[in-house]
Amino acid sequence: MGGSRLPSHDNPAGKLSIVGIGPGSTDQLSASARHAIEESDIIIGNDTYLSQLGPLVQGKEVIRSRMGEEVDRARRSIDLARTRTVSIVSGGDAGVYGMASIVLEVLEHTGCDIPWEVIPGVTAAQAAAARLGSPLSGDFVTISLSDLLTPIEVIEKRLHAAFSMGTPVVLYNPKSRGRPHNFARAMEIAGGYRSPSTPVGIVRNVYRPGEEVMVVTLGEIGEAEPRVDMHTTVIVGGEESRIWRIGQDVKGIITPRGYHRKYLY
Ligand code: SAH
Repeated sequence: MGGSRLPSHDNPAGKLSIVGIGPGSTDQLSASARHAIEESDIIIGNDTYLSQLGPLVQGKEVIRSRMGEEVDRARRSIDLARTRTVSIVSGGDAGVYGMASIVLEVLEHTGCDIPWEVIPGVTAAQAAAARLGSPLSGDFVTISLSDLLTPIEVIEKRLHAAFSMGTPVVLYNPKSRGRPHNFARAMEIAGGYRSPSTPVGIVRNVYRPGEEVMVVTLGEIGEAEPRVDMHTTVIVGGEESRIWRIGQDVKGIITPRGYHRKYLY
């Protein structure tokens, strides 16, 4: 990267890759993510992500850490990357509600000049959208309902702003045991801006064993609510989104990009 750097006192042999490993199956892992993991001596991540990688981490020094220990994990990865080749893995994309920012913030504070790289991954919004058809298509908003790092008042303000835009809205971290009510509150806010016929896609464990894909309407969301948990991504359609049906059979959600305004097809 350009710009001025602090003088380096570190062993140039070290390197840190912050790797987005996609939503689940290694089929969704990019070739560069795979390469970074293969060339690393040490792989750091939480249990879910490490087991997602299966045989790819065999024979490596593997450091497991738990959810909630992200700051320690970031520090540790930087300490080790002074002299070793390290990959810190994060589900989906590391820059989307992932590990990239905390690792880079800690690195910035240490002032040390380790070579680093962020490797992009398929984020849950893209993976869920692909399973649903094409619910995003153009502009869309993502909001996380987790109030661990963002106050709930700020989340609510953003939900109002997002739903008022009329575009599809993707909800990450829709529910967990610690905050079971945020999802219902988000749906209440959505109902203030969208009609009850608005499609809602609920995708759980996408590209993982036990994947579930559901399409309901905003009016029916109360019945579907128990199916939503922390392994779920929810896509609330925009003003133009519709459910594609053949007879009674639901095929998916389509949000037109606008070709119908210009072409006949
Ligand atoms: N960095 C990740 C997001 C981490 S936040 C990414 O880019 O995808 C965690 C949230 O992401 C979960 O609560 C859920 O909403 C979503 N998520 C991550 N993996 C998922 C999966 N396989 N299926 C469905 N949702 C998933």
